[in-house]
Amino acid sequence: MNLAGKNLGFLLGTLTRVRHLPKRAAAYSGDVFGRRERRGAERTTPLRRTFAAGSPTCPKMCSLGKFDVAVIGGGLVGTATALEILESCPNLSCVLVEKESCLGTHQSSYNPGIIHTALLCTPNTMQAALCCQGLKLAYSYIKCKGIKHCMIGELIVAKNESEVARLECLYERALANGVEGIQMLGCKEMKRIEPNVTGCKAVYSPCTGIVDWGEVTAALGKDFQMKNGKVRTDFNVVGFDVCPDSRHDTPETNMHPATIYSDDNRMISAGFVLCCTGLFADRVSWLSGGQFDPYIVPIRSQYYKLNPKKCHLVNSIIHPVPDMSCPFQRPKIMKRLDGSVWVGPVSNIAMKREGYKLTDWTLQDIEEPFRYSGFRRFLTKNSKSIQDEALKCVSSDRLIAELMDYFPLFCSKDLKKIETGVCAVPIDCQGDVVGEVVMDNGTGAARQRILHCRTIPDPGATNGLALAKLLADIVITEVNKPFDPNN
Ligand SMILES: Cc1cc2nc3c(=O)[nH]c(=O)nc-3n(C[C@H](O)[C@H](O)[C@H](O)COP(=O)(O)OP(=O)(O)OC[C@H]3O[C@@H](n4cnc5c(N)ncnc54)[C@H](O)[C@@H]3O)c2cc1C
Repeated sequence: MNLAGKNLGFLLGTLTRVRHLPKRAAAYSGDVFGRRERRGAERTTPLRRTFAAGSPTCPKMCSLGKFDVAVIGGGLVGTATALEILESCPNLSCVLVEKESCLGTHQSSYNPGIIHTALLCTPNTMQAALCCQGLKLAYSYIKCKGIKHCMIGELIVAKNESEVARLECLYERALANGVEGIQMLGCKEMKRIEPNVTGCKAVYSPCTGIVDWGEVTAALGKDFQMKNGKVRTDFNVVGFDVCPDSRHDTPETNMHPATIYSDDNRMISAGFVLCCTGLFADRVSWLSGGQFDPYIVPIRSQYYKLNPKKCHLVNSIIHPVPDMSCPFQRPKIMKRLDGSVWVGPVSNIAMKREGYKLTDWTLQDIEEPFRYSGFRRFLTKNSKSIQDEALKCVSSDRLIAELMDYFPLFCSKDLKKIETGVCAVPIDCQGDVVGEVVMDNGTGAARQRILHCRTIPDPGATNGLALAKLLADIVITEVNKPFDPNN
């Protein structure tokens, strides 16, 4: 798994935003959690405080050990990165820390499992590079592990002449990104692949595939443990400490200067901490003084299962030409590994991060975003699509009407609500979706020892293995640097 690291490494400096913030001496002082105080010009915003307020202040801590590297977040990205670290540097000790009782519990399992090609990525971006590399790595890993998958193909349909120009743009993008086997199809050829589709032209990507990303995450976790990696589940990280003053300035503490605290009084010491915490990437980074932006907006995606009697009508993944300016995906029709067909998503802003039911909510997740101008701008810019999605949520007739444009054989009785997922959509202060990798070091002494992966460009799971190589390269470089507690 060492190939992509070299290819992607050079992109890191140019295309990602790695935030090395200006040094702020002793930005944090005191010890952990609530007792931590920020000094100086950069004060904890009320929003950050909201999260810190949930942290305990407990003097008795049970240590779970010391490791060279701790990766927080046992989703696909964290798990793949932890494995990549040990594959590149078997001598390092590494622990993977997860708040749930098993790996891959959230975004990495609650998704339709598409292995995307770089069809929709803007050429010459980090996103396109990650997707091309990620796709190759994903296929090679799942083939090697014997994980069930299928290269099922994807058909993007222009329903009328007005959509053809956008479709052609997409085709040009795909060519520029070197998407394998990409074809522009006329009506007849399109019907050879999907006889029941209506439209005037289509782009076909034969290499788009389908897999269970949760199963991939579990396999990566198993490989990580086989390489002596340790997994600590049920460890909800609520605080960091990076020995900030000379009291701790001994060679021993400086080997493992970073301490991670759980909400049940356990701690882990590490030489370097990497956080890949998905829907909580922003809040976890605020714990070590991370920037406020990008803020995570949780978007809940509802999927539907097609009447089994109609599943034979679909062979691949079919969808209309996407509107690239809209943060919500247009609904796809997706053949699954088990022969069933899913339709969706219909999206709404979730009232709870990791809240899978429409009615799940927390006060913090409802009121916190409204205090942020980026979120308010996001709402204003996308009010029409938010409204459209809400209406589709209420009645599947609206969804069916949208599908009818290119697939006229379904009616609302054919669809049954099934899975939902909640996706971390990062937005900036302008209210725009951030499509690049953003990393954040936090402030104070933490800057040397903690790195937060704040955003993962779409398609996140496909990009995951490529991003893991990039992150592992950074961690391996950083962990060997001497720690200066006074810096
Ligand atoms: C509905 C939906 C559809 C999608 N469709 C596709 C698709 O078809 N193809 C594709 O390639 N990608 C798709 N994606 C994107 C992809 O699933 C995600 O980008 C990817 O899984 C992200 O992985 P992750 O490891 O960053 O996040 P996650 O899988 O969410 O993992 C983050 C982990 O961090 C843990 N964590 C959080 N906070 C803490 C804490 N304080 N302490 C300890 N642990 C913590 C969480 O419990 C979680 O296990 C989809 C996503 C969604 C939600």
